[in-house]
Amino acid sequence: MNEPVLRINALRKQFSGVEVLKGIDLEVRMGETVAILGSSGSGKSTLLRCVNCLEIPTGGSVWLDGEIMGYRRERNGALRRLTESQMAVQRRKVGMVFQNFNLFPHWTVLENIADGPRSVLHLSKSDAKERGMALLTRVGLQDRADAYPRQLSGGQQQRVAIARALALEPAVLLFDEPTSALDPENVGEVTDVMSALAESGATMLVVTHELGFARAAADRAVFMHDGVILEQGTPADVFDHARELRTQEFMRKTL
Ligand code: ADP
Ligand code: MG
Repeated sequence: MNEPVLRINALRKQFSGVEVLKGIDLEVRMGETVAILGSSGSGKSTLLRCVNCLEIPTGGSVWLDGEIMGYRRERNGALRRLTESQMAVQRRKVGMVFQNFNLFPHWTVLENIADGPRSVLHLSKSDAKERGMALLTRVGLQDRADAYPRQLSGGQQQRVAIARALALEPAVLLFDEPTSALDPENVGEVTDVMSALAESGATMLVVTHELGFARAAADRAVFMHDGVILEQGTPADVFDHARELRTQEFMRKTL
């Protein structure tokens, strides 16, 4: 298989002296979908936030598409920290979907999606609109382009957030419990969109407790506990044949 798109190396993160990531190694190859599971507080969100430079690791490194996140290499070989605005440029390679959608409430659905193509890629208004409509079609919401987020259900808002995350054609998509804030009847439409994305070859790192989705769509499942990856394997391995007691307990509670 091809080189990893994302390589997380011995990643560590402390908050005021307390280590919450204790040396994480993880690779995601192009087109792979990796599900991350683990109890609350195990470090899943912090891991995703480090990938995205929303948190600065206290040790180790994150490589995306051949670049070290948060740093650039000087001509003499030394690494230099990026400024906040340089990091913002790097972050364009990462599409992130949060639990609470984070859409701009005073913008229409289409404006939320077309903003990145317009302001970052400098597409013309009509090209940005065309790209936005294509993305909305992909998530099945082409007829809601002119609605405002509050006029949509949670599931629809999350589908808009996914379309927005795709707008800059990121190298990797990160999802942090994308269905946890939804009413149960809205979960399926979001996991269906995510499954279709995974099927179409997107590279995805997904924190989720939706075992059905993970089983069907993920190539690999990773179980985190207390800042480490306790075990990983195919979803069937991890869900049905976990080696570690902690994983078995978690699966029993989650199933
Ligand atoms: P998870 O997403 O698996 O629930 P988190 O990554 O959110 O776990 O949190 C891991 C640990 O790090 C928790 O103990 C949490 O309280 C702590 N933590 C997360 N963010 C911060 C922060 N900004 N400051 C201090 N502690 C934090
Ligand atoms: Mg979390």
